[in-house]
Amino acid sequence: MYDYVIVGGGLFGGVMAFHAVKRGKSCLVVERRAHLGGNIYCEDVEGIPVHRYGAHIFHTSDREVWQFVNGLVEFNRYTNCPVANYRGEMYNMPFNMNTFSKLWGVTTPEEARAKIEAQKSGICGTPANLEEQAISLVGTDIYEKLIKGYTEKQWGRECRELPSFIIKRLPVRYTYDNNYFNDLYQGIPIGGYNGLVEKLFAGCDVRLETDYLKEKRELDVLGRRVIYTGALDAYFGYCFGKLEYRSLRFEDELYDTDNYQGVAVVNHTDREVPYTRTIEHKHFDCTRDCGEIPKTVVTKEYPVAWEEGMEPYYPVNDGKNQELYRKYEELAKRERNVIFGGRLAEYRYYDMDKVVRSGLEAAKREFGA
Ligand code: FAD
Ligand code: UDP
Repeated sequence: MYDYVIVGGGLFGGVMAFHAVKRGKSCLVVERRAHLGGNIYCEDVEGIPVHRYGAHIFHTSDREVWQFVNGLVEFNRYTNCPVANYRGEMYNMPFNMNTFSKLWGVTTPEEARAKIEAQKSGICGTPANLEEQAISLVGTDIYEKLIKGYTEKQWGRECRELPSFIIKRLPVRYTYDNNYFNDLYQGIPIGGYNGLVEKLFAGCDVRLETDYLKEKRELDVLGRRVIYTGALDAYFGYCFGKLEYRSLRFEDELYDTDNYQGVAVVNHTDREVPYTRTIEHKHFDCTRDCGEIPKTVVTKEYPVAWEEGMEPYYPVNDGKNQELYRKYEELAKRERNVIFGGRLAEYRYYDMDKVVRSGLEAAKREFGA
């Protein structure tokens, strides 16, 4: 009999496993995929750690979280500076003086502000949706070239039908600074994320390629308590209906060149190109000369509508889905022996640091400080 059956080998499960093992508890990890790590898993291709489920950059202002992960593995000094490709025109991201200067030929923050002020004049009051929020932050030119197409591909719906908080993830800066994040700390574990995953799950028994929900009865009797990090609606057999998610399809190419696009992340922001991002993984290893490996792996990221059986990558946190989630949450509160946590079970657009924070809080509640 294990103390815990942990469903899902991602970051939330890992933080809980780490703290359980530290206190002498026994854990069985049940993971549907053929590997641990959840969406941070990396696959070695030609000596390059390929971020199998999309680009993952750790960034946080939460010192305890940063110290926790740095206590386990060493991070490099990678700083995310993606570039947007709009019909062959290249713009720096996030929206900053480099972007404004390329777009309008302006040279000072004052000129850039004046441009944006003039373009946002149609919007008054609190922005009601993503389109209004975007125009009020950066004006119509940037909205049309760098936001509208990308967002509609990514979410499969009009910007007017999306919540405004999504676009507030991106900084808008009146300085020549291409850093995508405002956080105090940023980096990627040297060699990729698998070393971190190994440290988190050290000391656990693991069953891969096992769907907990298909074998729930047999697995439940193996542990005193369950830590569940899968989708909440799936746990309850979709009894109130399905929550919406967005899924992705990843397509890899191996090229015989040491440097294909000159940067780790290119965002493809027009509507016509069917993918949203191309990721050249070797550039995440920023302290290594890219000439050291003569080949390179580039992954195209295609957004797709989620259906049962696909990986649910992004929750769709609009009003309708939030309301449905609340109903499942009420059921979850009644499950005495189960701890629910992580991006899927909490149905939140969590970055990694928020998942680690949520795991640390759950561990404090479960095991004490
Ligand atoms: P997951 O990693 O999803 O782990 C859950 C695990 O549970 C999965 O392995 C799944 O297979 C397993 N599982 C589910 N149901 C079952 C079942 N029934 N039986 C057995 N196993 C099951 N965050 C950042 O901070 N920076 C980034 O740059 C970043 N980029 C991202 C890019 C993409 C494309 C995506 C999708 C996410 C990105 N994130 C990023 C978010 C990050 O991936 C998550 O915050 C984090 O990995 C979530 O960890 P988790 O443990 O909650 O979930
Ligand atoms: N976004 C955009 N253009 C870009 C990049 C992002 O319009 O070039 C919008 C889009 O709506 C996206 C949101 O900003 O969903 C958040 O972007 P982020 O890079 O944080 O997305 P994630 O890495 O979570 O997929």
